[in-house]
Amino acid sequence: MKSTILSTLQSKGFSGIIRKNNQKIEKFDVTDYAQKLFTFLRKDVTCRVAFSALLKTNFFNNDKVLKNVNESLKNIGTSFVRKAICQAQRCHTQLERLNLADEDFEPTSKHMNCNKCSQRNELSPDNYAQDFGITQNDLMKLLHFGFRMGAFQVNYHTACFKCSKATYVTKFNEASFTCSKCKKLKFVTTEYIVPDASVDNLIENKLGRWFEWYCWKLIKNGINCQPNVIVKKGNQEVLEADILLEKDGKIGLIECKDREDCSDILAKLPDIKRIANVFILVSASSRAENKVLAAIKAKLGNKFVWVSPEKVHELNTIVHSKLN
Ligand SMILES: [Zn+2]
Ligand SMILES: [Zn+2]
Repeated sequence: MKSTILSTLQSKGFSGIIRKNNQKIEKFDVTDYAQKLFTFLRKDVTCRVAFSALLKTNFFNNDKVLKNVNESLKNIGTSFVRKAICQAQRCHTQLERLNLADEDFEPTSKHMNCNKCSQRNELSPDNYAQDFGITQNDLMKLLHFGFRMGAFQVNYHTACFKCSKATYVTKFNEASFTCSKCKKLKFVTTEYIVPDASVDNLIENKLGRWFEWYCWKLIKNGINCQPNVIVKKGNQEVLEADILLEKDGKIGLIECKDREDCSDILAKLPDIKRIANVFILVSASSRAENKVLAAIKAKLGNKFVWVSPEKVHELNTIVHSKLN
């Protein structure tokens, strides 16, 4: 840990030690894969939503992932699919659907004729609405986009229609479609998984840790910071900081949350107030509950900053402006 972080903590009557688990984050961060995943996650808030949903469901392309993705997207009010519908009264036929994975994702002004009622539609970007009815195909398209960036690996999960014998392949050949046991046709489903075993360091409890790494990576080159610090007063553990920052004798404390429920923070507020000049709560894939945010604000006032999921990429700027 940087000596300036420690000495600043000490000047406030506290001490700090690095949590053992921190090694896992630092070990992961130096892998080639970490940079590829980081690039994908930074692309858009919806990439983080999809990644979080996959983690929480153990990378299974099932209805649970889809449900989780749609709920999270609705919660933050942003989707990776936008759609335009026919403007004619009572028609509402879909004219176009754009996926973040498409090169022309950003809507432009254009005209499109409706297939159903033949009305000529003059479309501007304002006519495109966020689509929260993400389908399996939409999600596959986004994950394939991540696959092309190296953030995911494709596994083909094949199972026999007759005897249910299941296998995994990473490449197809004719045999992929025939059961080795009963020679019947197999069905194939595509799974996107993380390719690197080292990512296990980030996903042991399905929650949080990947996001701590992500937030730390966003800021670590521009400021004194340390993930996973246990702050102590004497021999007593006071709290665990996801990330601790120091700038000009001021302490910043960052809490990274990959879930809506942040109520566990409330009990720590008196200690947070004593330790930190700034407390930053960063939300990954869903918003924190308003009543919790209000309670933190009431206790910490201007010391408190909430960073919503779509603002996370600005974390570096936020950190610097608040610790000035
Ligand atoms: Zn129409
Ligand atoms: Zn079989």
